[in-house]
Order: sequence, then structure tokens, then C-alpha cells
Amino acid sequence: MKLILLGAPGAGKGTVAKRLTAIDGSVQISTGDILRGAVKEGTELGKQAEAFMKAGDLVPDDLIMGIMEERLQEDDCKNGFLLDGFPRTIPQAEALKGLLTRINAQLDFVVNLDVPRDVILDRLTTRRTCVDCGAIYNVKSMPTKVEGVCDKCGGKVVQRDDETEEAISNRLDVYNAKTAPLVDFYGKEGMLLSVTATSSDLVVSTIQEKLGL
Ligand code: ADP
Ligand code: ZN
Repeated sequence: MKLILLGAPGAGKGTVAKRLTAIDGSVQISTGDILRGAVKEGTELGKQAEAFMKAGDLVPDDLIMGIMEERLQEDDCKNGFLLDGFPRTIPQAEALKGLLTRINAQLDFVVNLDVPRDVILDRLTTRRTCVDCGAIYNVKSMPTKVEGVCDKCGGKVVQRDDETEEAISNRLDVYNAKTAPLVDFYGKEGMLLSVTATSSDLVVSTIQEKLGL
């Protein structure tokens, strides 16, 4: 499958993407994970992105398009991909359209994960992430077996730098201003599937059904 997962921070894009990869071997491509990896490794990309991310602002479009131009042409994308956290602006969506045409790939559709703001706020403040493998936990609904230690890889599980109350509130404002317009953009392209995303089970089964899988 070739899908875009749209939705506010905390809407569950990552969780849904991970579950979909298990269905048909499509790869999850998370620009957030790629950027956090670059910051951790201290690469040139990481240095350029770090301050934007910490504040909850978007990283400039040209950096993001540079990443995606390369990533989408890697071999593992041939079986399909789930774009998680990209595109996030109208210029990124326009550039993606050109890129997909050039590499001769066609999207199935764009899923919009629709979640009420209070649910989002609650999820983001209680979310914890493994710094090594990116596994996502929740102190209320899905805690690690040992506090602060990843069940899957033994890595350190922490609250992300951009998951302070201030950065979260900024990320939601940035989402509403820059990313929410993509719902209309893909609606006009006739590609949108909107799903109420309070349960990721329901989202996954709705997508599966729509794809006939
Ligand atoms: P979430 O969806 O939970 O907000 P992500 O992990 O997708 O978080 O992204 C974390 C941060 O990485 C964003 O706040 C932003 O700074 C940066 N980022 C990720 N993807 C993009 C993108 N497509 N365009 C611009 N910035 C991005
Ligand atoms: Zn881990």
C-alpha cells in the first residue's frame, strides 16, 4: 500500500503506520523519526533541524524534501510506504506530487485521522518514546514493564523535548495553521479518507477494508 497518514500530533499516525506495515510489508517513513535520528547522531541535517524541532516549529520545506527525495527512492519502498508526518505543508504536498510522478509511484489514498483536541492533549502529555528504537508508550494506557526502560530493546524511554506543555501547544497551533489545510487539498484531489481515530483498531480495519486486504 502507498498511503499518506495525516493528522494532528498525537492522532496516532505512528501507531497506525506500525500496524499497517505488518499487514503487507510496506515501510513506515516518519520524517520525525528520521530527523530525531539525525539530531542524535549530530549530522549536518540534525544540526540544521534541532532548534526548530525543540520549539515545536516545522523544519524548512527544502530540508524535508531533500530527505524524502532520497528516502522514497530506496529499494524497500518498492513494496509500498506509509508516510507518517509528511507532507506537512501545502508546498511539501505540491513537491511530493511532482516527486511521485518522477519516480512513477501512485498513492492509494490519504487517510485523515480525526481526533478531538482534548484527547490529543491528554495523549501527548502522557506519551513516552524510546530514544533507541522509537517505540511509543503511554504512562497511563501502555506503560513499560520497568519504568524508563524499553520493553523491546532495553533503551531509555523518555518524554520528548518537544512534549513539554509549551511546545505541545505550539505544535498544535502550527498543525492548525500549516498542516490542516492539507485535508482540503487532498479532498479536492479526490484522495481523502477521513476516519474518526479514537481507536487505532478501527482505523486499521477501515483502511484494510478500503484496500481490500
Ligand atoms: P508529531 O507528529 O508527534 O508532532 P513528528 O515526530 O512527526 O511529531 O515530528 C516532530 C518534529 O519534527 C516536528 O514538530 C517538526 O519540527 C519536525 N518535522 C517532522 N516532519 C516534518 C515535516 N514533514 N515538515 C517539517 N517539519 C517536520
Ligand atoms: Zn526501544
